[in-house]
Amino acid sequence: MQLDLQVCSRARLSRDPRFDGKFFIGVRTSGVYCRPICPAPTAKEKNCNYFPTAAAASEAGFRPCLRCRPECSPGTPAWLGTPNTVSRALRLIAESGLAETSMEDLAERLGVGSRHLRRLFVRHLGATPSAVAQTRRLHFAKKLIDETSLSMSEVALASGFGCVRRYNAAIRKTYDRTPTQIRRLARQKTIPAEDQYFFRLRFRPPYNWNGMLAFLAPRATPGVEVVEGGSYRRSISLNGKHGYFSVALDEVGSALAVRVQFGDPQSLFFIIERVRAMFDLSADWTAIVESLRADPDLARRAKAQPGLRVPGCWDGFEMAVRAILGQQITVKGATTLAGRLVRACGVAFPAAEGLTHVFPQPAVLAEADLRSIGLTNARAETIRAFARAVRDGEIRFGGITESQSFLRRLCEVPGIGSWTAQYVAMRALGEPDAFPSGDLGLAHALGLEGTRELERRAEAWRPWRAYAAMYLWSMGGPKSQSGRVTSAAQAIPVTPIDSRQHV
Ligand SMILES: [Zn+2]
Repeated sequence: MQLDLQVCSRARLSRDPRFDGKFFIGVRTSGVYCRPICPAPTAKEKNCNYFPTAAAASEAGFRPCLRCRPECSPGTPAWLGTPNTVSRALRLIAESGLAETSMEDLAERLGVGSRHLRRLFVRHLGATPSAVAQTRRLHFAKKLIDETSLSMSEVALASGFGCVRRYNAAIRKTYDRTPTQIRRLARQKTIPAEDQYFFRLRFRPPYNWNGMLAFLAPRATPGVEVVEGGSYRRSISLNGKHGYFSVALDEVGSALAVRVQFGDPQSLFFIIERVRAMFDLSADWTAIVESLRADPDLARRAKAQPGLRVPGCWDGFEMAVRAILGQQITVKGATTLAGRLVRACGVAFPAAEGLTHVFPQPAVLAEADLRSIGLTNARAETIRAFARAVRDGEIRFGGITESQSFLRRLCEVPGIGSWTAQYVAMRALGEPDAFPSGDLGLAHALGLEGTRELERRAEAWRPWRAYAAMYLWSMGGPKSQSGRVTSAAQAIPVTPIDSRQHV
């Protein structure tokens, strides 16, 4: 990744939060590396080095700043200007839950040589894969020290160090302080209840939180998800344990405030990574909208609703089931069906207000009689066939190294067509260029007649077509170019018809 030094310098001097996480500054006089927003007095330009990632600054021998806390910066917008292989490798490193990742394994899964992978990483991120993984472990450990009251041995395990001795040594080497000294600096005011954790996850402003909730609210599965009072909460199930989390906007800090209730601290990294993906916290909206602005309709919409993100999901399987339920019916109708499905097949889990169940596992839906909840035979069979494929490992949502082959496999399930696949790619795989072009709401929002016309126009929106889709859906039916109010004139899009040959 080539950093534009002039841009970096301007962003640093103005402490521009839109650049947070896009580069880091190593200050040679102090030996410390900082985020562009660091409140410490600005260093002289001649003493500054710029790095594309925290791992690169760390490899160059700089220590993380204790004031601006690089571990709190929004994620690196990895897909920006980096080749697919690097993005996919980063995804695999994140999914591995911080366990030691061998470079050979990683390279083999990606189908490239390990020397080639190393070269790609160094060229684009300024650091080797193992340095990137090690920096993530350290950053997460630092976050747990600062933001939780977990014991040091729990922090060591939860951040993937395996044993306390290695953890102590790594923290001491990086921060020049012991974990206990660092915790004293953090001065936590409140001690949360048992198994409860509170995190602040930063984003690069602007962030359209209302737009995010407006999308999630009508789609919230009754019993599993609740949107109210400006916050989102949901039940979760991991490795046989149940819990929940809630997310709200922290206006002051360009952050989301996340409260997690979960009995196993070793799952925290995974949970936090999922929340980050679900709320699209790594997105670099300013850069994305720069390329969408060429389209006057999108420019107008982006101006009216700055900071719109693509909502991801907690769980790919659940999201795909939800998408299948929504084929050919309204969002409201699909939400009602989802609520019935959860009551009939989910596991009762009375947690926070409004949360009564966790979403059913693939093995349960694979055998469930879903006609009783009001599904057509065909739709019920699609869900069962999809659930069987996931249960039997034919379709896996983890460790995806190549989206196209994943989507092809998904479309082999009778009743899943390209609309569902693209929608899943958009929300479960976080593919920024996924685009459900068969969606009638999208075409109508632009006053276009059909899919072909929409696809042609959408070519200019690559590689950010998922964001364009969000803009088109979010505005419902403003007047089209021709001044005619389109049939999509409703705030919530009707989930469209999937490709007919399958349905
Ligand atoms: Zn700093």
